[in-house]
Amino acid sequence: MLRTRPPDMLAPDLQPADTAAGILQQVFGYSKFRGEQERIIEHVSSGGDALVLMPTGGGKSLCYQVPAVLRHRRERGVSVVVSPLIALMHDQVGALEELGVHAAFLNSTLSMEEAQRIEREMMSGRLVLLYAAPERVTTPRFLAQLDSLQERELLSLFAIDEAHCVSQWGHDFREDYLGLSVLHERYPEVPRIALTATADAITRADIVQRLALGDARIFVSSFDRPNIRYRIVEKDEPRRQLRRFVQEEHHGDAGIVYCQSRKKVDETAAWLLQEGVTALPYHAGLDSDVRRRHQDRFLREDGVVMVATIAFGMGIDKPDVRFVAHLDLPKNIEGYYQETGRAGRDGLAADAWMVYGLADVVNQRRMIDESPAAEDFKRRQRGKLDALLALAESHDCRRVRLLSYFDEASEPCGNCDNCLQAPATWDATEAARMALSCVYRFHQDRGRRFGAGHLIDVLRGKATDKVAQFGHQRLSTFGVGAAVSETRWRGVLRQLIAMGHLRTEGEFNTFELTPSSRKVLRGDLTLLLRESDASPKRGDGTRRTRGAKVAKPERPTLRAVPAGLDVNAQQRFAALKAWRAEVARAHNLPAFVVFHDATLTEMARLRPATLDELAQISGVGVKKLEAYGEEILRVLGGEGE
Ligand code: ADP
Ligand code: ZN
Repeated sequence: MLRTRPPDMLAPDLQPADTAAGILQQVFGYSKFRGEQERIIEHVSSGGDALVLMPTGGGKSLCYQVPAVLRHRRERGVSVVVSPLIALMHDQVGALEELGVHAAFLNSTLSMEEAQRIEREMMSGRLVLLYAAPERVTTPRFLAQLDSLQERELLSLFAIDEAHCVSQWGHDFREDYLGLSVLHERYPEVPRIALTATADAITRADIVQRLALGDARIFVSSFDRPNIRYRIVEKDEPRRQLRRFVQEEHHGDAGIVYCQSRKKVDETAAWLLQEGVTALPYHAGLDSDVRRRHQDRFLREDGVVMVATIAFGMGIDKPDVRFVAHLDLPKNIEGYYQETGRAGRDGLAADAWMVYGLADVVNQRRMIDESPAAEDFKRRQRGKLDALLALAESHDCRRVRLLSYFDEASEPCGNCDNCLQAPATWDATEAARMALSCVYRFHQDRGRRFGAGHLIDVLRGKATDKVAQFGHQRLSTFGVGAAVSETRWRGVLRQLIAMGHLRTEGEFNTFELTPSSRKVLRGDLTLLLRESDASPKRGDGTRRTRGAKVAKPERPTLRAVPAGLDVNAQQRFAALKAWRAEVARAHNLPAFVVFHDATLTEMARLRPATLDELAQISGVGVKKLEAYGEEILRVLGGEGE
């Protein structure tokens, strides 16, 4: 999975320093563009506008950073990067300075003197990239400065990051983004590049319209993230399941655990801590200082697990997040994909893992029903939730479904739960009919409605107080489903709701039939349901293999040590990591800004003996070679073999 050259390959020809390929090689230390990067960079560098849709981790930053350096080398000039993520600007700028690219940010965390110093840098044309929040970019003062730059032909490029923030449909909407169309009106000849990982058609149309990108070329990359393994499991005892997942599969790894509520975030973080996992909470209810501190630790320390609401994550470009776990169902596939996309940006193996159950389905539906939004908006939200539920219930390749949601065709991937082990299914047509007819019988008695607990008791023929109170032991459906386990019943109900054949109502989530219930009752629909995987039945033959048969790839157990390193190389890797930690601390930057794990791994594996050999490793550019080369060789030489 490493994106590096094989060791025996000769050095590629040195590219001229004023070309995109030369900058990629010398400044960033990478040998090849990824996917659409090259075409995008060429288009923008030659003055075109672009809208870039690329998945999280796809490599969007280079799409404006390379043109910025290129244009600066050719005719000086500043590129302005609009970003909503004030908290991350410091590290983004630090990463560029590490590469030898002169960059700075302007935001509210700076003192007046600091801000003025940076403004002078910008006005002189020495600065290559300036990061600023949208509310700053649209102030009269800043626009006047841009005017002056423009008059002196020192305004190179506008990059609008997280461009979906301009759309009211997404959960990241920012009023200030609406004002950004001024850039086009005022500086029509300065190229603009807008970037986002949100790809659905409505958002895309919104971005084009509101940012006046009608003439921009749209670049849509593949949304596949092949190194991420998708797994969705039935919620049984979520904490125990999470503990097992984290401890057995991700011991010592950095990861994110998403929960729906602040309370659950706090509780889960506290509990994980008790279990010996370095976990920190993050949500909008925490003090901004606490939030910043936790985010810093997550970025800077190894192996921190962030337990968070969706308030956390946008712009987090920590490359070595090894897993993203969902303890609650997200609202839609866009959200799920964006959140899971934060795993494995470095291209190494990573997990997207989710538990979900009946209550999740019921809650998400209820939240939409009870929201004060317009009916039209709710209908859209319901449609989006349905697509996510279909993904969760599916027995075929998760990735094929995810990608097809983004209009991308693909083949079974071999790297999701369903591909790796086809889930057993069982014919639930009869059970579904029993459940629906029982709901119908309840209703016949003075329009009464009941929730899942009682319904399952009646179906299984349990003599509870409630059964006696309503005389339900006399119903024809009493005890008809005694042979079906409670877990299975929950699965049936969940999937009936997911598919819209049953719905819940009111405070107590009582059941109601829907127009499509009748099809099930009449037996017109065959329901093949996923066997519950909460209690796996290994080797008893219930699992059937369907679709593509794929061998299970080898999987390293302890991810804190990269796969494929022999003992000596592991020692070198550990020594390099210790050295990197020192440098990072001295520079007040996250370790990955100094070098990625993937780069250290290659150094440890190949053990270059000269600066020339070291320069061949992906992620080692000219500036870093100059700054750290000798030290790295010393560290590598120091480990005996
Ligand atoms: P995005 O902003 O799209 O989420 P990033 O720009 O943060 O993604 O890039 C993701 C990771 O991929 C980063 O660590 C980046 O350094 C790396 N990367 C991007 N382009 C290349 C490339 N051409 N070769 C090697 N690594 C790359
Ligand atoms: Zn698959």
